[in-house]
Parts: sequence; structure tokens; C-alpha cells
Amino acid sequence: MTYSIETENLTKVYKGFAANDGVSLKVPKGSIFGLIGRNGAGKTTLMKMILGFSSKTSGTIRINGKETEEELWKERGKIGSIIEVPAFYDEMSCYENTMYHARLLGIKDKGVVDQVLEEVGLSKFKRRKVKAFSLGMRQKLGIACAVLGNPDILLLDEPTNGLDPVAIAEIRRLLQSLNKKGVTIFISSHILGEMEKIATDYAFMMDGKVIRNISAEELKQTGKDLETYFLDIVGGETDEKDS
Ligand code: ATP
Repeated sequence: MTYSIETENLTKVYKGFAANDGVSLKVPKGSIFGLIGRNGAGKTTLMKMILGFSSKTSGTIRINGKETEEELWKERGKIGSIIEVPAFYDEMSCYENTMYHARLLGIKDKGVVDQVLEEVGLSKFKRRKVKAFSLGMRQKLGIACAVLGNPDILLLDEPTNGLDPVAIAEIRRLLQSLNKKGVTIFISSHILGEMEKIATDYAFMMDGKVIRNISAEELKQTGKDLETYFLDIVGGETDEKDS
């Protein structure tokens, strides 16, 4: 099996507190890999280290099988990402913001910008200033900018939180179509019903550690849905237990 992202014993310590404590996981190439965990479990910290936004304390990161610092920076260029809330210039239009990101990536072809805005369903709003955008529109613009450089891997930290059901379904279709084209998607979300609709693999994090890995196929064989499975392993209450 080929892996897009691998970590081994990856650790991040902030002033004596291990936000990631020996995280080992393997994200298969072509998968939609769901990272699940309670608030503060360490998901964003892990994503930031993979992207190089945050330095690791110890451990190994491998992207497309490469692990030296020099190689990693090259491979990171093939990752599109949204970490926390995507940042834009509010006074600039949707089109200008996308153009700005395109230029940063060295993309000169305006057709590429038009195409990604079409793909995420923002074409008809491209002249609107971003300050007038709803949360869902901002998230779609974030995804548009993340896919601009034609990435091999998309790394998305909670891309559907706060979105309405229509926007969630639109983003689902967009991610599925990108995945069909071969893009590996590493995604964190608290919306477990939504994750279950798209993910092929899961890792569950708790207190800075990956406490379990399971494929969607293996989950199906347990006869449990994702929420019940997650609550069982983190020791949460389920409706079933309550009744
Ligand atoms: P959420 O689901 O709420 O987004 P998360 O799983 O993404 O949570 P992280 O943001 O990775 O969690 O945080 C993990 C832990 O590390 C938390 O206890 C957090 O307070 C701590 N932490 C994160 N960044 C820093 C920082 N810069 N300095 C100190 N502690 C930090």
C-alpha cells in the first residue's frame, strides 16, 4: 500500500504539555481519511505539523514517502489546506481573493481561477466582496483556494462546521469528485454523520494520542455507526445506554 501521509511517534510539547504524544498514523493514497476526536484531542496540532506551520518536538513525518526536511517542503507544495478559519481580504471580491492566492502559487492562467470558482459553486458570486460572504461561502472559497494548485492531497480542518445542510451536501459532492480524480483527503470533523458518508478510513484521537484506526469497511462489520463506535471508545454516553 502507498501512503500519502505517515507519521511515526510524532510529538509536540508546549511548555511541558504534550498536545501530540507519539502519534503514528498512515493515510492511504486515494483515501478520504477522517480524523476524529474531542475538542483539544490534538487534531489541529497534528495537521499544523504535517503542513510545517508548527515545528515538531520529535518523531517522523513522511509525505508521499519523503521524510528529509528538504524533501518534505517540496511535497508540502502538493498539499492544499484549510486550517481553522480560512483568511481572506474582506474588502476584496471573491475573484480578487482567489486571484491573489493563485498568484502566490505562481498561477498566471485566469482560466484556472474561473474553473475552481465554478467547481465550488461560487461563479455567480465572484464579484461580491468577501465581507458580504456567509460562513458557507467563505468555506467554499477556502476550498477553492486550497485546490487551486491542483494538489495531490487536501488537508481540511473542520471544513463543514457551522454550515447549513445544503452547503454540507455541496461540499461533500465536491470532495467526492476531487477524490475520484485521485486527490487524497485528510479531514477532521465533529459532524460524525457527515464523516460516515464520505470517509474510507478513520483515526480516533484522544489526549494527544491516536487510540484507534479503523477502515470504513471494518466499521461496517462492527454493526455500529460511527457515533456509537466513537462514544464507546472515548467512554461517552450514547442514547442507547441512556434508555
Ligand atoms: P478542536 O476539536 O477543539 O479544534 P483539536 O483536537 O484540534 O481541538 P488542538 O487545537 O490540536 O486540538 O489542541 C490540542 C491541545 O494543545 C489543547 O489542549 C490546546 O490547548 C493545546 N495547544 C494547542 N496549541 C497550543 C499552543 N500554541 N500553545 C499551548 N498549547 C496549545
